[in-house]
Order: sequence, then structure tokens, then C-alpha cells
Amino acid sequence: MVHFVGAGPGAPDLITLRGAELLRQADVVIYAGSLVNPALLELCRADCAVHNSAKMTLEQVLAVMEQAERVGKTTVRLHTGDPCLYGAVREQMDALDRLGIPYSVTPGVSSFCGAAAALEAEYTLPGVSQSVIITRMAGRTPVPERESVAALAAHGASMVVFLSAGMLEELQAELLKGAYTSDTPAALVYKATWPEEKVVRCPLRELVRAGREHHIAKTALVLVGDFLSAEYQRSKLYDPAFTTGYREGQP
Ligand code: SAH
Repeated sequence: MVHFVGAGPGAPDLITLRGAELLRQADVVIYAGSLVNPALLELCRADCAVHNSAKMTLEQVLAVMEQAERVGKTTVRLHTGDPCLYGAVREQMDALDRLGIPYSVTPGVSSFCGAAAALEAEYTLPGVSQSVIITRMAGRTPVPERESVAALAAHGASMVVFLSAGMLEELQAELLKGAYTSDTPAALVYKATWPEEKVVRCPLRELVRAGREHHIAKTALVLVGDFLSAEYQRSKLYDPAFTTGYREGQP
């Protein structure tokens, strides 16, 4: 059996209880060494075989899983954040289906949640935005044209941009083609929840400069939108006059 496990954004105590238990029991662990905190591997048994997938191809990852399965061993495939975002898990699951190897998925805390925590921010503020766009700039992995950052920026929604801290110039220009203005608040969050975490806030026009000044060019998220500013309306849910299924509103 193979367990895909979300490691969380960095701090080792942000893995789920289920994820931690699976790591403790694993015979084999394949972890995404570029971003998973190695401190998590201390949960593994002394005789657990640990592989760093940063140095492996998909074929090599699958070979390790297949070999383990053949001798009845349990494998944990440890992905950074939550496996469902930029995790390249689908291709592994499809290959396991073809090989007849069963698997499960344990979610994790994605870095976009870690970044919001670092900023003490809420993406969905009444009167500001009720949507979060998670996207990236095209790199070696192409992005469909209809999903270009400029096209998505037209919504002016809360936006989190992954995998793009190395191209802040292009990103800033793309964001400004949409509904955001040069004054729209933005933030760079580097290594959210790690000890070396950096949080930099700036207006969108300063994004490139902020990245340069704080030496942030990778392992960071770019956040943009008015959710980072001070203005919003209070919630209906907790309004005294609002009736919900749990509480009668008072006029
Ligand atoms: N599955 C992961 C994302 C993997 S893609 C998740 O759910 O978070 C890798 C990208 O995620 C990085 O380039 C960076 O943009 C972002 N990232 C991952 N961990 C991060 C962290 N702790 N702080 C900021 N960005 C992070």
C-alpha cells in the first residue's frame, strides 16, 4: 500500500495526526526533498528506507513503490503542503492503478494557508472578495492561455501565486493588466511556518523591489488583493440581527 501524505508547509508540527502516524509506521518513505522539512523524517522508524525524490524521476519513484509492494511493505509518499496542489500526484496514482497497487491520500496544510497564517489574513472578506484564485506563472510547465495571470487578474479577487517568485518582474506586469492597481496591497511570504520565514508587505507596484531587497526569489508565495488592506464589512454570520440555523437573530 502507498500513502500519499501532505507534509504541511514547513513547521514539523503542522503535519496531521494521521500523516504523522503513517510516517511512524512506514517501511519506506519517499519525500520531496526540495521542500519537505527533513525534521519530519525523525518520526520514521530507524529501519525505514528513506528516499529523496528531488533526485529521482517518476520511473524511479514508481520502481521504489513497486519493489516495496512486492514484499508487502508500506510506503509513504510525502509531499509538501497538500498533495493536491502542484504535487504531480495524479501521474503517480494513475501508474499505481495500472500496477494494481492500492493507495490512499492524507491531506496536509497547504502553504497558501501557512502564508495566510503568517500574514494573519483572511482571503474571503465580505465586501472585498469571496474567492481565492490559486495560480502560477507559466514556466517550463505551460499554463493554458485562458488562465494567464493577466486574465485571472481581471477578477480582482484574492490571489495566491505559487512557483513564481523567480519571475517577479513578469508577474507584477501581468497582475497590473487586470483589475489590480499599483496601490493594491501585495505580500511575499518566504518559507511560511519555517524558522527562516519572511513576510514582506508592499503595494503591488513595489513587488519587484521588495523581492530584490529581501532576497526572495524562491520558496515563496505572492499574495495580492484588497483582502490585505484594512477595509471590509463585518460578517452576516455573526451579526446579532442575522438568523441562522443555529441562532435566532434579534432585530
Ligand atoms: N503542494 C504544495 C505546493 C508545491 S509547489 C502546497 O500545497 O503548498 C512548490 C511551491 O509552493 C513553491 O515554489 C512555493 O511557491 C510554494 N511553497 C511551498 N512551501 C512554501 C512555504 N512554506 N512558504 C511559501 N511558499 C511555499
